[in-house]
Amino acid sequence: MSTTANNLNNKLGAGATGTVLDHPAGLFILFFTEMWERFSYYGMRALLVLFLVSDISANGWGWERADALKLYGTYTGLVYLTPILGGWIADKFLGARFCVVLGALIMTLGHASMAMETEIFFYLGLGLLIAGNGFFKPNISTIVGGLYDKGSDKKDSAYTIFYMGINAGAFLGIMLCGYIGESVGWNYGFGLAGIFMFVGMMQFYLAQGIFGHIGAKPSERFEEEDEHEEKDPTVIRDRLIVIGVLAFFTIFFWMAFEQAGGSMTIFAKDYTQRALTGTTATLFTTVNLILTVGPVAIITWVLLLLFKQTFHKYTLSNIILGLGFAFIWFLVLWMLYRQYTGGDTVTVPASWFGILNSFFIIAFAPLFSKLWATKYNPSGPVKFALGLILMGVGFAVLAYGSQSIGLGDQTATVSMWWLIIAYWLHTMGELCLSPVGLSYVSKLAPAKFMSLMFGIWFLSNAIANKLAGASGSYIDKISEEYGLSTFFLLFTGITIGAGVLMLIISPFLKKRMHGIH
Ligand code: GLN
Repeated sequence: MSTTANNLNNKLGAGATGTVLDHPAGLFILFFTEMWERFSYYGMRALLVLFLVSDISANGWGWERADALKLYGTYTGLVYLTPILGGWIADKFLGARFCVVLGALIMTLGHASMAMETEIFFYLGLGLLIAGNGFFKPNISTIVGGLYDKGSDKKDSAYTIFYMGINAGAFLGIMLCGYIGESVGWNYGFGLAGIFMFVGMMQFYLAQGIFGHIGAKPSERFEEEDEHEEKDPTVIRDRLIVIGVLAFFTIFFWMAFEQAGGSMTIFAKDYTQRALTGTTATLFTTVNLILTVGPVAIITWVLLLLFKQTFHKYTLSNIILGLGFAFIWFLVLWMLYRQYTGGDTVTVPASWFGILNSFFIIAFAPLFSKLWATKYNPSGPVKFALGLILMGVGFAVLAYGSQSIGLGDQTATVSMWWLIIAYWLHTMGELCLSPVGLSYVSKLAPAKFMSLMFGIWFLSNAIANKLAGASGSYIDKISEEYGLSTFFLLFTGITIGAGVLMLIISPFLKKRMHGIH
């Protein structure tokens, strides 16, 4: 057996099971845990603003749009701030695994609390979600990397698979919580998020033996792991600098990316032709059906692969996971049944474009994961540059598509293809940058404060979310004076500029990574 395989087996101890898609089966336990958690996160998030601005007669709170967006911004910002604390606590005292369970429990209580729909419980719920995510998010990311040797080339591929789990959850959560919240009742939507958070927690808790020593308390950590660590302080410092630089560049990426929830949604709502008739309507209906069922089928296939390896050993965890899935299939088919009893004109909802991102990730992540495992695997900084440039090109497409919109026009009927292509380009960029970023944190940070470094990594998201809201709010002002096209072009300029800069400094960064590819 190779030393690498030996190390891994030592770390995993008696809990080790076979591989799934060439990766340790444990990766897929994390895949599904993260999937349920992101289901809850994105599902709740999709409802938050809609619920707040809905009329009191429609059981909402009748808030002004600006106030609702402010609360939304504060929430999404804070959610990415607490991982620093959760990461630090895990490294220092509790260990990553315990923190994942703790975070999941706190978030389950948070969702349950929100489902009560009284003012106090609503805010209490948001607070619990913010705290819970702090424990959960950085630590589950740490455990993924722990499954591999420190600088392992397989990490990019592993985090890309993990990222597919993230987006499988986002996809299902936005679709199902969104639909149920809006068409059945807000508290059902909020409650559904809680149910799946609980499923995720139980499924992880019951299968955690599979991780052996990985993510254990600092006092119980496998010593060999530390012995293999780089001890040279210059190397450690250099690698931390690289993480800092990469984190800084991701701010530009996410600032542009997060226009999705703001200015790009406004573009979808007011400037695109979404009323379809005749063949186009039928075509859309068919595509939408494939788009809905396809991802669920793909994930079910992954689930079956995992069962094959782990059912005998982690039976109860697998059963809970399977039941969760059966419920998802039921909800999806029920939703489709209700939706498809309509007529032959279709108006594509503006929110529909929101699921395109996660759909494209699920569809393309396997390809990227394979690509990063071949010789066509550029270095991290080059992938980052590519990600930023693709983001810029996406905005250039939007700018081109909106050329016909006059200064200050409040509505238009531009083809929705521009938006679809832009989302596709943004997603390809995301696949070059975001999972790869997680992988590089895992490869470059010392094991002793790995979770804290993930916390710091997510901090750039908090900043970017804030900047996204601030820059997006200029949409009307800029379109009135210079046109909507110019507004989008600004994002092209910023991200392509950042991408080119990244390319220029990439040799410098590579040197400071000291041998990590
Ligand atoms: N979509 C990914 C997630 O939810 C990345 C989000 C982010 O880093 N902004 O984890």
